[in-house]
Amino acid sequence: MLTRRRFSQLLIGSPLLAANSFGCAAGAAPVSGAQDMGAALTQSRDLLIKGGTVIDPSQNLHALLDVAVKDGKILQVAPDIPADGSRTVISAKGKIVTPGLIDVHVHVFEGVGPTGVNADQYCLGRGVTTAVDAGSAGYFSIAGFRQYVIKPSATRVYAMIDIGARGTLVGLAGNYSNLDWVNPQLTARAAEANKPDVVAIKARLSKEITGANDLEVLKRALEAAKIANLPLMVHIGDSYSPLPEILRQLRKGDILTHCFTGRPNGPLDANGKILPEMLDCRERGVLFDVGDGGPHLSLDVAEKCLQQNFLPDTIGTDLGGLSINGPVYDLVTELSKFLAIGMSLDHIIERVTVRPTRMFNFGVEIGALRPGTVADISILEVREGTFVLGDSTGKKRTGRQKLQSAATIRAGKTYVNRSDDV
Ligand SMILES: [Zn+2]
Repeated sequence: MLTRRRFSQLLIGSPLLAANSFGCAAGAAPVSGAQDMGAALTQSRDLLIKGGTVIDPSQNLHALLDVAVKDGKILQVAPDIPADGSRTVISAKGKIVTPGLIDVHVHVFEGVGPTGVNADQYCLGRGVTTAVDAGSAGYFSIAGFRQYVIKPSATRVYAMIDIGARGTLVGLAGNYSNLDWVNPQLTARAAEANKPDVVAIKARLSKEITGANDLEVLKRALEAAKIANLPLMVHIGDSYSPLPEILRQLRKGDILTHCFTGRPNGPLDANGKILPEMLDCRERGVLFDVGDGGPHLSLDVAEKCLQQNFLPDTIGTDLGGLSINGPVYDLVTELSKFLAIGMSLDHIIERVTVRPTRMFNFGVEIGALRPGTVADISILEVREGTFVLGDSTGKKRTGRQKLQSAATIRAGKTYVNRSDDV
């Protein structure tokens, strides 16, 4: 018997099967059928996605448009592209078509430590074409991450290197207690040697990880980031030192994740106002990522920040082994939480398409449906109904809409994961 997981991998590993079964899964028959060789030679499009609402914030697009793909690249985005001459036609009627979603915060070092999950199953299978692993590997293991995760994954995977040598190998508690294992030179050297796969340095500044060392760890992480000429992502929440002392040291382009944490030393003061140092950070170009992860998102805090017009720059999930069965599940569920607390769909899509491309240097143009660029595309369904969405503090919100991945196109190949009805 196929397990749930094997089943989804089977689909993910079989792009043709997935493409042909898409119509059945979504209840709309694909126009494509068997093609003879003569017809195939005259086809000017490999794939046509017809009738969907295209949302591409990079081009201010929100309209009923078709998307044509040829040789793994976007060929055309226009209304009413004829189906004739297309090898495969997918009906996206009633669905949303976006640039392939980018999750800037995941843990996909599968089989290494408690947090790693399979990238293709939990990213590509759920609408995410590009994922950034946020420091599962340290300088000792980044080469292995590249070899065993980045290379074989159909998902486009990048990495941040943890300033701690162990990464998430043995969990997080006490990871920076011994500063011998927090080495800026070796971390920077590993980052440089593994560019462009490595896009940032990561430091986790919670007291159960740093002990009393947090400011020293931050200093070393900034040093590594400077040497490697990369941004630093800092994880906050229950830090040993007051948050303002950390915030004051972040540079333009550095990233603060878990920005809506409900743990002590979060972004709000005792009256629920955003700390002035948070606003100063935004003013000078520090970027803010959600990084739910389970313990790191408070919907109450997020709502208070949105009310004060403090929106996140990116909505990374911090997806990992401890949160895939809730409260995170996957990126589309995370996005649905932000719909439920009042962010607009266009603002949400912007934060998982074009905004991440300003955060990291991916070395390739993604995050936009622009002719000539790689055909990474997400087809999403917006389900209407009553959906209870929660955070790890037990707080819940009822959403009226829930996003679900219908199909994902990565470099022109179509993938469907039909086993993830979460
Ligand atoms: Zn994380």
